[in-house]
Amino acid sequence: MPLLVMKFGGTSVADLDRIKNAAAKVKREVDRGYNVIVIVSAMSGKTNELVNWVEQTSPLFDAREYDAIVSSGENVTAGLMALTLQEMSVPARSWQGWQVPINTTSAHSSARFVSIPRENLDTKFDEGMRVAVVAGFQGVSPEGRITTLGRGGSDTTAVAFAAAFEAERCDIYTDVDGVYTTDPRISQKARKLDKIAFEEMLELASLGAKVLQTRSVELAMRYNVRLRVLSSFEDTDETSGTLVCGEDELMESKVVSGVAYSRDEAKMTLVTVEDRPGIASAIFGPLADAGVNVDMIVQNISERDYEGHAGAVTDMTFSCPINQVARAQKAMEDAKAAGKIGYDDLVIDTDVAKVSVVGIGMRSHAGVAAMMFKALSAENVNIKVISTSEIKISVLIDRKYMELAVQALHDAFELEKAV
Ligand code: ASP
Ligand code: MG
Repeated sequence: MPLLVMKFGGTSVADLDRIKNAAAKVKREVDRGYNVIVIVSAMSGKTNELVNWVEQTSPLFDAREYDAIVSSGENVTAGLMALTLQEMSVPARSWQGWQVPINTTSAHSSARFVSIPRENLDTKFDEGMRVAVVAGFQGVSPEGRITTLGRGGSDTTAVAFAAAFEAERCDIYTDVDGVYTTDPRISQKARKLDKIAFEEMLELASLGAKVLQTRSVELAMRYNVRLRVLSSFEDTDETSGTLVCGEDELMESKVVSGVAYSRDEAKMTLVTVEDRPGIASAIFGPLADAGVNVDMIVQNISERDYEGHAGAVTDMTFSCPINQVARAQKAMEDAKAAGKIGYDDLVIDTDVAKVSVVGIGMRSHAGVAAMMFKALSAENVNIKVISTSEIKISVLIDRKYMELAVQALHDAFELEKAV
C-alpha cells in the first residue's frame, strides 16, 4: 500500500478537539488507500513547561533525565491520537521512540539519527494496522536511554520516517498555511509560495523563517523527501500549502524567492589586530570553544606602519547572536590576557539585524546584489556588513531599519507577484 507521513505540530494537537480535527485528516488519507505514519509533537506549551520543571528541580541537570522528562509530552499526544483514530474505527496504535526503535546517538538533547529499522512497523502494517502514531522528537541511545533531537525535532523525525519508509510525501501540518516570500507580519504583500527548492528553504529556515527545523530540511534534501507545509486549521487538499522539493520539480527558478531576516544579531570588531599567519585561527578557535555561533566574518585589508604597531595590522569584524555577546567578549578578553591575540579595542554593536535575499536563480543571474544595494540606498539604509553565498546575499544593518529593509527588498524584487 502507498504510504504517507503526516506530522502535526504542537498547535495542531493543542487540545482534544484539535486532535480530533487532525485525526479526521488522517482518516481521510486512510480512506483514500494510504497507510499513514503520523508523527506528533507535544501539545503546545507542554515541552516548555517540562523544560521549566527540569530547570527548577536541578539547574545543572543530568541530561539523560532532561530527555526522559521533556520527551514525555509526545508520548501523551501519540496515545491520544491513536485512541481518537480507534474511536473513528481506524486501526491505529501508538509507538514511542524506543519501541520502533528510533536509534540515535547518545548526544542527549541534540541526538542524531543512527537508524530506524522498518521491521516492527512493517509487521504491524502487514497485520492490518493502517496508522502508526509515532512520538516525535525522541529516540533511544545505544545505552538504552531516552534521547531527544533538539527543540523542534519532530519535523526531523517526520522526514526521517518518510525517508526510511519511502513515503510518497511528508506532510507537515502546522499553524500557517505554507511558506511565504517573507514574514506577512512585516510585509502585507507577502505571498504564499506553491513550491520552493530544498536549498532555498534551507537558507530561509536557518535565517529565522521558523516553519521547519533546519535539520529536517537538510535531511529531506539528502534523501529527496518531498515535503509539504500546510495548515491543520483549514480544509486542505492535494494542492494546498507549499511543496518543498528538488529543483527539477520547479517550473522555472525565480531569481529571488524570499526575503528573510534575523532580528537578534550583534556585531563585534577587533580593532588593530596583528596581521600574521594564524591570527584568524587564534580568534575564531576560542570563539568556537566558547560555543559562539559566528555567522558573518569580515577581515579588512592589511595596513602597514600603523602607529604603535611593529608589523601589519587589520580589523576583524564578525557577527553572532546577541545572546552570545557576553561569551564572545570573554573569550576574546581571555585570549588577549593569555597573549594569544593582540588588539587595541573591542567594539560591540548590539543594535543590528540581518536581512537576506534568497533564490536559486541567483546562480545564473547577474546584478542581484546591485539591485539589493540600490533598493536599500533608496531608503537611506546604511549597510554595515555584507556576505554572499551562491544563492543568498545578506546584509547587516541597524535594527531600527529592519522592517523597512524587508519591505523595500520585497518590493524591489517584485515578490508580490510570486507564486
Ligand atoms: N515538542 C518539541 C518542542 O517543542 C518538539 C517539537 O515540537 O518539534 O521542541
Ligand atoms: Mg515546530
